[in-house]
Amino acid sequence: MDKLLRVTMGDSPSFVTEKMDAYAGLGGRNLTSKIVATEVPADCHPLGPENKLVIAPGLLSGTAASMSGRISVGCKSPHTGGIKEANAGGQAAQTMARLGYGAIVLEGSAPGNKLYTLVITKDGVKIESADGLKGLGNYAVIDVLKKTYGDKAAYMSIGQAGEMRLGAASIACTDPELRPTRHCGRGGVGAVMGAKGVKAVVFDDTGCGMRKPKDPEAFKAANKAFTKGLQDHPISGQGLPAYGTNVLANIINESGGYPTNNFSKGQFDGVGKISGETQAETEEKRGGNPTHGCHRGCVIKCSGIFVDKDGNYVSKQPEYETVWAHGANCGIDDLDVIARLDRMDDDFGLDTIEMGATIAVAMEAGLAEFGDGEAAIRLLQEVGDGTPLGRILGSGAAVTAKTFGLERAPVVKGQAMPAYDPRPIQGIGVTYATSPMGADHTAGYAITANVLKSGGFVDPLKAEGQVELSRNLQIATAAIDSTGMCLFIAFALLDQPETFQALIDIINAFYGLSLTGDDVTALGKEVLTLERDFNARAGFTKADDRLPRYFRREKLAPHDVVFTVPDEELDEVFAW
Ligand code: SF4
Repeated sequence: MDKLLRVTMGDSPSFVTEKMDAYAGLGGRNLTSKIVATEVPADCHPLGPENKLVIAPGLLSGTAASMSGRISVGCKSPHTGGIKEANAGGQAAQTMARLGYGAIVLEGSAPGNKLYTLVITKDGVKIESADGLKGLGNYAVIDVLKKTYGDKAAYMSIGQAGEMRLGAASIACTDPELRPTRHCGRGGVGAVMGAKGVKAVVFDDTGCGMRKPKDPEAFKAANKAFTKGLQDHPISGQGLPAYGTNVLANIINESGGYPTNNFSKGQFDGVGKISGETQAETEEKRGGNPTHGCHRGCVIKCSGIFVDKDGNYVSKQPEYETVWAHGANCGIDDLDVIARLDRMDDDFGLDTIEMGATIAVAMEAGLAEFGDGEAAIRLLQEVGDGTPLGRILGSGAAVTAKTFGLERAPVVKGQAMPAYDPRPIQGIGVTYATSPMGADHTAGYAITANVLKSGGFVDPLKAEGQVELSRNLQIATAAIDSTGMCLFIAFALLDQPETFQALIDIINAFYGLSLTGDDVTALGKEVLTLERDFNARAGFTKADDRLPRYFRREKLAPHDVVFTVPDEELDEVFAW
């Protein structure tokens, strides 16, 4: 991965292939954030030509290491106004890495409404007109592209939401079956791709081999130990493969932290109808598949295939976050409705978390009743159709609440909270408040120690210990996000020191290094420091590292608690 592809969009789009030079040895989030922090003026408009969209596979992507297929996308976010890294599975990371590219940097902006497709093969790069793809959703885009570029390539694309440059627009990556179901979802990265006039990127790695480690024997042994560690852990070896991420629905509901009806209750009466157990049983009965890898080389296989009553494909198995966002948070207890909404999100190219949170806000504003699935479908269709109401909804929960005069928008830095209420799970509240990314559970997944008792236990109802927990997890996550590894390796890393060591051994054997655990910590701190520095230059202050005030005022049933971690402690999260 020693090549950096710089593409300048404009009247005559052009590209240049450079050496990685100053960015050599970086990958994933470390690389996207480094390029954005170095090259993008922090005060620029996110949809203007000065912003850049950076696409980068992780350090281990394209190798034989298990779980190494995450692709990172970075830019200044049109949704939060700060730095953004969003990552996804699918095949893009592996193919891009095998083609030898460490990063693609999209610069400038396309004139008028022109759209382009970047085609990258071992023979070079082409920039082709994509005007024929204008207005198409991701599924139709991939159907057209694969007729030309075949079913061996991997694809990244935007749907209508990206073309409209909406704040909730995502970038889709195809899975092994060429379905555009794995999304760099958060922060409006799809809107930035749309502003560059890039509708799709095609990666065809035909003729390229697997990336080769410096020490093949040590690499093989470390990967074997790492894989065994993942398979031995009860969450990554049993829970996730059997029930997918939605295995969490019953667990989080039981904890009282399952946000219901726009974060007004912590438990949902209909959880049994939408839980991971019910979802897996439904899929099996209908001929779907609850155990599927979103990219080749995944050994956990938490994804799946959801089919309708006649066995026809509807969507990927909706993730825990999606089932919650379009389910409990909107009072909807129908898996078929949720799967339709998931399919629409993937097709229009929308972040399912943001859209579920937004529809719940719209329900609170009186645009529909909580629990009305058909109304939720109608509201989401407005987004795909680009109606004035749809464009408001597609701009996210904060904009929607503002438009309809509501205080109760569950957002931080303008980005909607995911599926854990921060009042009865206070550690995740610290992460939501302080992450440079805005409210983001993956930035420091405190559910581990607060609820799952993975990596120790910190009482979720109390303020004590939450800052330290979130700090350590944010550091570890920033490092993992740089490797290209799926975050679901974290449970085994936290509970099994030998699995953590095996991951370090994989990196060392591949690159011929002798890193230690301390180096991994240093890497995570470095990434967070440069992201925080970008946000400070963009105008963020400690006032932005706060939850909305109503989380300190409104008690949440059943525990009747508010968020109690003091502001002064929140300001200590990054004090190292
Ligand atoms: S564990 Fe799930 S999200 Fe992670 S790589 Fe595998 S299928 Fe994808």
